[in-house]
Amino acid sequence: AKKVGGGSLSFFSEALRHELDNRKQLEHDIRIAISEKAFQVYFQPQVSLSDGTIGGIEALVRWKHAERGMIAPGDFIPVAEKCGLMAEIGRIVIAKAISEAAEWNRAGIAFGRLAVNVSGTELRQPDFDSFLFDTLEKAGLPPEKLSLEIVESVILDDEKTGIAAKLRHIRAAGVHLELDDFGTGYASLSHVNPNEIDRLKIDRRFVQNINENGDNSKIVRAITELARGLGISIVAEGAETEAELDSLMAIGCDQVQGYSIAFPMPQDKAREWLVARAP
Ligand code: C2E
Ligand code: CA
Ligand code: CA
Ligand code: CA
Repeated sequence: AKKVGGGSLSFFSEALRHELDNRKQLEHDIRIAISEKAFQVYFQPQVSLSDGTIGGIEALVRWKHAERGMIAPGDFIPVAEKCGLMAEIGRIVIAKAISEAAEWNRAGIAFGRLAVNVSGTELRQPDFDSFLFDTLEKAGLPPEKLSLEIVESVILDDEKTGIAAKLRHIRAAGVHLELDDFGTGYASLSHVNPNEIDRLKIDRRFVQNINENGDNSKIVRAITELARGLGISIVAEGAETEAELDSLMAIGCDQVQGYSIAFPMPQDKAREWLVARAP
């Protein structure tokens, strides 16, 4: 690299190159993992706060890299999104999750609904809806047993991109829709509408330390009351402690998901958990 006055610029470009090399390496490894369908699915249950029954179970992608070990979704999803590979990863995860849920369903194991995360780039694929319907049909899972978790900003990405129409089509087939990370995006109350969505997921940042933080507890209470008034159900994310569970129960929140109930589990563990939990 050309040196333009002093060492700081070359240091900067060095760091930048390192970063780029890293990303290229990661992209290369992601491509291999896609071709081998090496992405795994973990499952984390969502339970009713009033009676402990299972309302749903969320599928979360996991990637065990041969040399680097587990890489968190937060570390590879942004890279995959940038190189246009997220849609392929998403389909691997969704297909694996649906096929597992179909097995639970056939075995009579209660799991409520399987919830899968879907990003904007996945939804924007022209054939996303037909992929979803084909996958459900091949696996033999009724559409009513599936729900899609979508962040607010994607729901807001409305008529122009055709996403709203696609979501209506998917929902008309019986699949449920949920607003993920509620409260962190550009919440437009016009989308908190029972004609468009079935459930709100209150983001973890409002749930953690809810008992110590007066503002958080007011926010969760307000969201819960809003949703109840509209006939939309609610799940609180990321409850880690008994104290947080107690506060959520006192507020009257429907359901909860978090380490205090169960960590995300690989499929055999998830199945055991569901079986042990059955009434
Ligand atoms: P998310 O959809 O908000 O998922 C919840 C995250 O919170 C998960 O992180 C989960 O492991 C974590 N979590 C659950 N309970 C607790 C708790 O009590 N305390 C704390 N601190 N964390 C908790 P994870 O698995 O690392 O996933 C991160 C994000 O990556 C997800 O956030 C979602 O946005 C994205 N993601 C994960 N899997 C998929 C996927 O298959 N497709 C797509 N498009 N995105 C995914
Ligand atoms: Ca989610
Ligand atoms: Ca979330
Ligand atoms: Ca999130």
